Amino acid sequence: MKLSSQEMKRVLEDVRGHSEVNFNLCFQCRTCANACPFLDAMDIHPNVIMRMLQFGMGEPVLKSSTIWVCVGCNTCCDSCPMAIDIPTVMDALRQLAMEKGVAIGEPDILNFHEQMLKSVKKYGRAHKLEIMMRYKLKKKDLFQDIGLGLTMLAKRKLDLRAKKVKDIQSIESIFKK
Ligand code: SF4
Ligand code: SF4
Repeated sequence: MKLSSQEMKRVLEDVRGHSEVNFNLCFQCRTCANACPFLDAMDIHPNVIMRMLQFGMGEPVLKSSTIWVCVGCNTCCDSCPMAIDIPTVMDALRQLAMEKGVAIGEPDILNFHEQMLKSVKKYGRAHKLEIMMRYKLKKKDLFQDIGLGLTMLAKRKLDLRAKKVKDIQSIESIFKK
């Protein structure tokens, strides 16, 4: 999908609106990138994402794997001298990528996010076994990690049955918002 320059401008306004973070404050010290534990798995470093946003390069940013690889651990923003909330920007970018129908840079991670959310919506917590099964079914490689799954079961790292939180209505109301 190609975004027009008008639409790209709107994407950048949306990122500012969604995240309420002023990425224009970034002055490229690279502290965020040096601190990020997932840097090697990213196709564009977080500081470069900030620079691209400053230059109005919405489309390659939305198509990057980085916005999906980021786990929101806050390590980067804890050490950023300008206190730029990078995880919130990444959240806004993920949201926008889905809204704009942009091809997802890391489709498997999106599948994982979806299964995780389904579990939280249903039980109020993550039921790891069901998440893994659903993820693998959608990925069509149910048996690739079967050994690991069995080891986790044997070590009681996976619950066979999901337990719902008592106040599931509160969780449901969050998803309705
Ligand atoms: S640490 Fe902050 S100011 Fe430095 S490059 Fe990263 S986002 Fe920019
Ligand atoms: S929040 Fe994202 S970008 Fe920041 S350190 Fe963690 S994984 Fe890296």
